[in-house]
Amino acid sequence: MNDITILAPIYEGKAKVVFATPDPELLVLHFKDDATAFNRQKVGTIAGKGPINLRVAVRLMRELEAAGIATHVVRVLDERRLLVRKVAIIPLEIVVRNRTAGTFSKRYAVEEGIALAAPLVELFWKDDAHGDPLVNDAAAVLLGFATAAEVTAIQVLALRVNTVLRAFFAARGIELVDFKIEAGRAADGALLLADEISADSCRLWEIGTGRKLDKDRFRRDLGDIEATYAEVLARVEAVPA
Ligand code: ADP
Ligand code: UDP
Repeated sequence: MNDITILAPIYEGKAKVVFATPDPELLVLHFKDDATAFNRQKVGTIAGKGPINLRVAVRLMRELEAAGIATHVVRVLDERRLLVRKVAIIPLEIVVRNRTAGTFSKRYAVEEGIALAAPLVELFWKDDAHGDPLVNDAAAVLLGFATAAEVTAIQVLALRVNTVLRAFFAARGIELVDFKIEAGRAADGALLLADEISADSCRLWEIGTGRKLDKDRFRRDLGDIEATYAEVLARVEAVPA
């Protein structure tokens, strides 16, 4: 049933608008075509991105649920709107890396594309005004972002997501280089995977060629942005042989 009443927007972010519903435990996420990078220093539009990212995120979260990982997804309302369980977002951007890239390469002066011996979890304080700084476990606890038990649970969750999604993408000819997730506490206290996982929040490299199939095409002006997002959706929704 798609007859949920959508109330006023409660937040507009860089890629989505969040709407309240009459049920205090449910929200609607509206996926926009807007794209930003480098903490809004680069802004633009990727035509069709919203509906594509919604479908990619839902497919990936269904895969994670099948593996026993609890997510906020309730159901798709229409091509841009997703009904989710409301959570209190833990203000951490939880990044997992399988290869060096992006800010890791910059921070530690290592070239991009070096395989890591084991997946690395990094936590960043989710705060645009301060440039999303890296935080360690103790700081995340001392600053009140999460309890020590939650920080541990988040790291376990992140590595489980990595294991499931790496295999999922590999079966579709894509290497999962790195990604960001968000987690939050539902009304019943459960830790849920929230927000989205899509080509906006992952680095995805075509296996064999290394072709970038993600937001780096926008960040680095590599061209073919719309076509690449559509290709990611097609591969994600494909049933591998
Ligand atoms: P940003 O805030 O980084 O610009 P978006 O434009 O994607 O990002 O906005 C979506 C916002 O909704 C994010 O701040 C995200 O943390 C939040 N969010 C995602 N899922 C949920 C949820 N289930 N409950 C509450 N907030 C959520
Ligand atoms: N990421 C994200 N949102 C952010 C920062 C990072 O989705 O605000 C994702 C990014 O797409 C990449 C991973 O997290 O897949 C690691 O990003 P990194 O720290 O290298 O920063 P970036 O190069 O994206 O600025």
